Formats: sequence, structure tokens, C-alpha cells
Amino acid sequence: MITETAPYTTIDIDQIRLDFPILNQKVNGKQLVYFDNAATTQKPSQVIDAISEYYEGYNANIHRGIHHLAEKATSAYEATRATVKTFLNAKSIEEIIFTRGVTESINLVANSYGRHNIRSGDEIIISTMEHHSNIVPWQMLCEEKGAILKVIPINEQGEILFDEYLKLLSSRTKIVSIVYVSNALGTINPVKDIIEAAHNVGAVVLIDGAQSTSHLDIDVQDLDCDFYTFSAHKLYGPTGVGVLYGKKNILNDMPPYQGGGEMIKEVSFTKTTYNELPYKFEAGTPNIADTIALKAAIDYISKLGKSTLAVYENELLAYCTSQLLEINGLRLIGEADQKVSIASFVIDGVHHQDLAILLDGDGVAVRTGHHCTQPLMARMGILGTTRASFSKKKKKSEIDLFINSLNKAIKMLK
Ligand code: PMP
Repeated sequence: MITETAPYTTIDIDQIRLDFPILNQKVNGKQLVYFDNAATTQKPSQVIDAISEYYEGYNANIHRGIHHLAEKATSAYEATRATVKTFLNAKSIEEIIFTRGVTESINLVANSYGRHNIRSGDEIIISTMEHHSNIVPWQMLCEEKGAILKVIPINEQGEILFDEYLKLLSSRTKIVSIVYVSNALGTINPVKDIIEAAHNVGAVVLIDGAQSTSHLDIDVQDLDCDFYTFSAHKLYGPTGVGVLYGKKNILNDMPPYQGGGEMIKEVSFTKTTYNELPYKFEAGTPNIADTIALKAAIDYISKLGKSTLAVYENELLAYCTSQLLEINGLRLIGEADQKVSIASFVIDGVHHQDLAILLDGDGVAVRTGHHCTQPLMARMGILGTTRASFSKKKKKSEIDLFINSLNKAIKMLK
């Protein structure tokens, strides 16, 4: 999704950057250039303030207490759930479950839905470009149940081979779990078509929204996915909290994932009954402060407007890509037609770790390695890449700094 020209002037990036106190610092004597947004985004003051306001003003455990602080904390916590419901366009708040993040959400579905529904000989489909979080829980489930994991192949550009996917589908397919946007390639997968084809054979579909939620408008009803998950920390929110969306009828039929306080209706030594949705899946005291701050993050991103900002991000990606392609011996990893602002690459004769160390010396933070996608790296015939991932608060001048630093580092390493 590279746009040649963008209404640059409609966005005041300098103003936006003032919201991110962390950016105003020098690293190794140079102005910090933070290009590691796919690993985690930085947090605006609005999010940081929401956390301190909770601890300074109304720290209390939620749902159980009837005193003032408990009621205030409960209503702030539940306000986030209502905000997430609107943000994802879910049908009801019962469909919004708070987890620790994408990894826990996928483990929840694999352990609850998967262990309840998967039998020997059933098939689960994922793709070559999945994050380890969307591979390992399914492998563990397959091992336990004698089920089979099938993998959709991809082409050299890093795009799913849709016809091959269709060939994998059959009445044996029970779950399709697929990433919306690849963290290593930036590829945007055609998830709507993937979901429709899976439903035609009666399978349920989980969408890993770790990278898509900050870049694309998400409408779970329009996608018709059965599960959708994202982590707050990749959305300008805090670490340690995320969301699992699930269709109500499916969640209702699923057994609890963990047992403990909050997820019960009544406990006796002979029988325990479980709480209503969504609490059935939220055992124990949750991450209250960070969940409250997730609302501040969503409000922040919604105010800026994801689609307006996407145009800006696409311009940054186009600019960076054109500069990268001028570098001798550089190979882009991930050249999908539809992609977000992630530029992953390898350079002949240069190890990505050495490159990252030299870039850091110039205050440039990029990610290197396999990006928790080892099978994808094996498919591409590489061990890892250097990945620059941009966000809304980046400037063209920072890409210039990055490219200059990159050229300098390559000279030193070659
Ligand atoms: N899937 C993708 C595509 C990711 O990028 C990540 C995080 N890098 C995850 C899953 C796991 O997310 P978390 O660590 O927040 O659980």
C-alpha cells in the first residue's frame, strides 16, 4: 500500500512527537531515532498519565469492593472494555476478554476451544509467515490430540499463495489461525477471503492482529472472524495487557482457560459454576492500571485517525524503500503489494547484528534477527534481517539519518 504522494501537511508530526516524552533524548550523543515500533511502540503522555492517575488517585481491586475507590477503578476498567468493543466493532462487551496480550490470547483459544473441539486426525492451518506465538500453541495442541498442522506456503515477495491455501482446506480443517499483518515482512494478508473460505468448510478462524491493529481499521463483524487478538503495547498502550475478541456463541461453549477468583459464580467442594462472559475467562486480579491505560491509547489513536495517518506512514515507507534500494547488495525481505510500514532487509557480506550495533552508535534503534519467525526466515533462506518499522510519529528527516548511518556502517563492515 505505497502511496506516492500524501497530504503531508494535514498531519503535524512535530506536534504529535511532543506527546512522546521518550523521543526527546540523545542516545550515544545522537538524537534518538526509534525505528522499532513493530516490537513495541512508545507511549504518549496521555497513556503514562492514565497509569499514574490510577495509582495516585484510585488504586483498588475491581468488581468485588463497594467502596468509592473500588467502584471508580471498576468503572474505569469496564470503560476500557466498552471502548475496545467500539474500536473493534464487536457486537457486545461480553465478546471482549482482557488477556496479557496476543500470546496469551492464542494460548487461551488453543487450550480452551482447541482442547475441547480438536480430535485425532483434525487439521489446523497456519501460514509460513506466522510469529512463534501463532505456531507453538497449535503444535502443542496437535501433539496432544494427534491433529495435523498444515502450513500455507508463500511466494518470494512474502505473499500467501491463496490457491495453495484453498487446496489445504477440507472437512478435516477445524481451525485456521493467521496473521493479518506480518511483523517480519509487513505483508497485509487477505484475511477476509481467508475467513470466508475457512467458513465454507466449517472451520473457525483466529486473526493475529498484533501488527494490524495500529495500522488498519478493524471491524470484526465485517471480517466475520471468530477470534481476533491484539496487544496494547503495539498500539501506544502499556505492556502486559491485550484483548481477545471472540464471537459470543463460540465463547459461551468454551470451557474456562484458568480457574480462580472472578471467573466463578459459586464454589463448593462438590461443584463450581462459572461466571458469565467475559469474566469466565478472566481469572484472578487483572492488570488493572494497564487495562485502564489501554483506553487512553485507543482514544489517542482514534483522535489522530488511523486512516489519515496510514497515508503518511505509506509515504514514509515509499521514501525509505526507495532509499534502501539504492544501496548496493541490499535485498528487501517482504515486497508484498499490500504492506504496512515495515522495511526488512539483508545486505550481502554484512551481518545484521554488526549493523545494528553500529546503527545504535548513531542513536538509531532498529530490530535485527529472526523476529520470532524462524520458519519464515528458513523459507527465505536467511537467518535474520534488519528491520526498520515506522509509526505515525516519524519524520522523513529521521529516515535520512537512518540511511546515512546505514551507508556509514556498511562501509565500515565491508
Ligand atoms: N504475533 C505477531 C505478528 C507479533 O508481531 C507479535 C509480537 N512481536 C506477537 C504475535 C506476540 O505478541 P505479544 O508478545 O505481545 O504477545
